[in-house]
Amino acid sequence: MYEMHFAVPMAGAVLNTINTRLDAKAVVAILRHSEAKLFFVDYQYVRLASDALQLVADSGAPVPLVAVIDDIDTPTGVRLGELEYEGLVARGDPAVELPLLTDEWDAVTLNYTSGTTSAPKGVVYSHRGAFLSTTSLLLSWGVSTEPVYLWTLPMFHCNGWTFTWGMAARGGVNVCIRDARAADIYCAIARHGVTHLCCAPVVFNILLEGDAATKLASPVSVLTGGAPPPAALLESVERIGFRVTHAYGLTEATGPALACEWRNQWDSLPLQERARLKARQGVRVLSLADADVKNADSMASVPRDGKTVGEIVLRGSSVMKGYLNNSEANDSAFRGEWFLTGDVGVVHADGYIEIKDRSKDVIISGGENICSKEVEEVLFRHPAVSDAAVVAMPHPHWGETPCAFVVAKDKAAGVCEDDVLAFCRKHMSRFMVPKKVVVYDALPRNALGKVEKVKLRDEARKLAPP
Ligand code: ADP
Repeated sequence: MYEMHFAVPMAGAVLNTINTRLDAKAVVAILRHSEAKLFFVDYQYVRLASDALQLVADSGAPVPLVAVIDDIDTPTGVRLGELEYEGLVARGDPAVELPLLTDEWDAVTLNYTSGTTSAPKGVVYSHRGAFLSTTSLLLSWGVSTEPVYLWTLPMFHCNGWTFTWGMAARGGVNVCIRDARAADIYCAIARHGVTHLCCAPVVFNILLEGDAATKLASPVSVLTGGAPPPAALLESVERIGFRVTHAYGLTEATGPALACEWRNQWDSLPLQERARLKARQGVRVLSLADADVKNADSMASVPRDGKTVGEIVLRGSSVMKGYLNNSEANDSAFRGEWFLTGDVGVVHADGYIEIKDRSKDVIISGGENICSKEVEEVLFRHPAVSDAAVVAMPHPHWGETPCAFVVAKDKAAGVCEDDVLAFCRKHMSRFMVPKKVVVYDALPRNALGKVEKVKLRDEARKLAPP
């Protein structure tokens, strides 16, 4: 996938990285919507890819050409489709004249996000936006030359928050591991002298696991985001030698849009206080002209009082070109030139933005977005369920997990929790399956008939594991 970040745009094509945690149906939706022509598959995901390709063929839609990437050190001999990646590369002509980019606004990549509706939305980045985001993130994070970068953040999240290109720009070394396990991470850090890594806060829990957590021989700079990092976690990982920068972003903003820029005057504060300041989402990165918190009705900026809440809005070069073939989503995502993030926050007196809530119905579990509507749609298909709603439940490892509230069709027969969970496991990607199912006689609804999710969230909070 790293090589693809250069090869595909240089061939004049658009790269669409696919989240490997999705199930075959979600992969099909992406292959079809993007009208993919060539599908590169790592040998580890051949099963998922062949299920998806079968579904594409069954639907009568055009099937893309397939190239399998085998393990270069210990080939498995796995084949699927027409091409084998290393063979394809070997057949290439190194002297070929590459097409010159004629318009910097041309699309470079496509990243699908599960926003607030169940249909995945294809976020398009331009060469211009990607270039400006990459360079401004290198500056924000202070990445000097020849970094040694460990990939724990998947490259399918906003092109690895642009560090696919960023590491090449700084002459960096890329260290890739197959799974983000504590032992593998610490071993890679020691063996390769890792200086930088990006991760969602869930990886901090992994870093702190058992015996693996050792004091680092030299500090490692970490950029974290994708979900709110609890101040206590920040404090714990900093104690063992990680230097954490906290950023906030979303796919539509080419990854990090705000970064909690560190101020020297905070250095002398106690660790706990420093962690509290660092848990705030921060100030805009350079490739944004503006980031603000506004009242969603009047579009007036909220006062810098750390109390008045509003929606976080962004404008500038790192905001996406738009959603691919989705005029409805494009219309509702922007208000004039402002992109509406669906995140709710405050601005402190020092200008730093802090998130307080989300207005969009998304659950963020281990840094992966889960659209509650998508889970609800599966629950509604269960034969014993007549009504269902899904909300976020706090979780000590994942940050949040889906909690389902269901009503039985037949009150006397009821609904069995295990049955519902087994049904979910069959019909959705594994990370989306609720961790808890609660059976209600009726869901709380307001006068307009809308489910009162605030009440359900309160209930889920009470049921959360300690
Ligand atoms: P990514 O691929 O970077 O996770 P997504 O578009 O999938 O981006 O998710 C973006 C959402 O994640 C944001 O709208 C916000 O709700 C949440 N988020 C991202 N970073 C942070 C953060 N630092 N603190 C709190 N929430 C965050």
